Amino acid sequence: MIQSINPYNGEVVYEFKELTEEEVNETIDHVNNTYLEWKKTSFEERKQLMEKAAEVLKSNAKEYAKVMSLEMGKPITQAIAEVEKCAWVCTYYAHNAEDFLTKEFIKTDAFKSYVSYEPLGVILAVMPWNYPFWQVFRFAAPSLMAGNTAVLKHASNVMKCAELIEDVFTKAGFPKNVFKSLYIKSDKVENVIKNPKVKAVTLTGSKPAGSKVASLAASEIKKSVLELGGNNAFIVLKDADIEEAVKTAVNARYQNTGQSCIAAKRLLLHEDIATDFLAKYKEAVSDKKSGDPLDEDTYIGVMAREDLAEELEGQVNKSVEMGATIFLGGKRKGAYYEPTIVTDITFDMPVFKEETFGPVISVVTFKTVEEAIKISNNSDFGLGVSVFTKDFKQIEKYLPEFDEGAVFINEMVKSDPRLPFGGIKISGYGRELSHHGIKEFVNTKTVYLK
Ligand code: NAP
Repeated sequence: MIQSINPYNGEVVYEFKELTEEEVNETIDHVNNTYLEWKKTSFEERKQLMEKAAEVLKSNAKEYAKVMSLEMGKPITQAIAEVEKCAWVCTYYAHNAEDFLTKEFIKTDAFKSYVSYEPLGVILAVMPWNYPFWQVFRFAAPSLMAGNTAVLKHASNVMKCAELIEDVFTKAGFPKNVFKSLYIKSDKVENVIKNPKVKAVTLTGSKPAGSKVASLAASEIKKSVLELGGNNAFIVLKDADIEEAVKTAVNARYQNTGQSCIAAKRLLLHEDIATDFLAKYKEAVSDKKSGDPLDEDTYIGVMAREDLAEELEGQVNKSVEMGATIFLGGKRKGAYYEPTIVTDITFDMPVFKEETFGPVISVVTFKTVEEAIKISNNSDFGLGVSVFTKDFKQIEKYLPEFDEGAVFINEMVKSDPRLPFGGIKISGYGRELSHHGIKEFVNTKTVYLK
């Protein structure tokens, strides 16, 4: 049995019977049979259905958001915003997929030569619980628009979300079995990857899961895309607009109760503004309301599972043993971990070196831009970085120095359907969103007519 446990009160909210291997294989057969028809549909047909999916999302946003809050503790207003963003990505690909995948004519010795982008078949998505709708839709919208079909192995604690996501496509009128959720635990993923009808896999999650799934895919010569963790720096230079930087840095770290790959996990402050910034930051963080995820005023909810809060507590406590100071917060009650700011950091401490997947930020000061870049790059991860400064001219010169998948100036790192999203180093490889994302799971076919 796979259970969803409400992290706010420990109650079992949903239960799912795990599929047998036979049932999984049967589902994949159905999804593959649907692929053989789906790939022949026109972009116009797919577009109409994807626009309908966006409408279904918008009209059921509150219901879907509530399930997210119950399964993984997301504050309800943030959950509603997540569903709305899913509608956006559906509309975006409904309108742009055909353009992105249009034939590319190239002049050669041939009478005619071109590149055509064709679907691959059944794609497996292995997804995490932290943005249980968004992570899935940012994969599914481009993949289905490209003519693929998909099976989803969602995180074990958000299987009701998985069921509802499948239901969005059904309600929108997509053919049966274009998108199916598999109610399985992670030990059953290997068989799915090895199924010859599954052509590729995308995983959003941790490094161990990514490494395992990518190795399995590689052993079958199947393509993989990995969207893994991050340890983003949020850099405030001395000429920055401090008020704006404080406001953004609060959201960048504490939205979704800190459980975001692109969250600002390390706050790097120029020494001249550090004291002033930290005082304002502490006040702004303290003003944020913690509480019941279903309460519309709640900004900080509980973490998705109690064991995750314990793990975070362990990272902070170990750092304190190594000499760090708790400037704010630092206490845990069940799955709730107080919004926390940690100072007196050395680079070997867990709160600096490891990804902290919850409401904890570590603070480091620097003297020069060069030093800030060096500290920022002192990480195994490479997902993104934010820099606050008024001097665009200076910072643009430094941009190539950042070992990251994204650099945001005067803004938090965020995903946007129009921009590619993904990391380097142990943050993964491949890109989602934009025209880059839709081209990850297509056959780039060369055609030569002489
Ligand atoms: P996780 O434990 O890696 O789980 C992610 C998914 O992988 C779940 O469906 C999980 O299934 C499955 N899984 C775990 N181990 C597996 C294995 N050995 N073989 C096959 N599947 C396996 O990650 P999480 O705790 O849910 O999510 C947090 C991590 O995701 C963080 O590191 C975060 O930074 C990262 N993340 C990255 C992005 C990005 O876009 N770069 C976005 C969001 C999150 P079970 O639930 O059944 O274990």
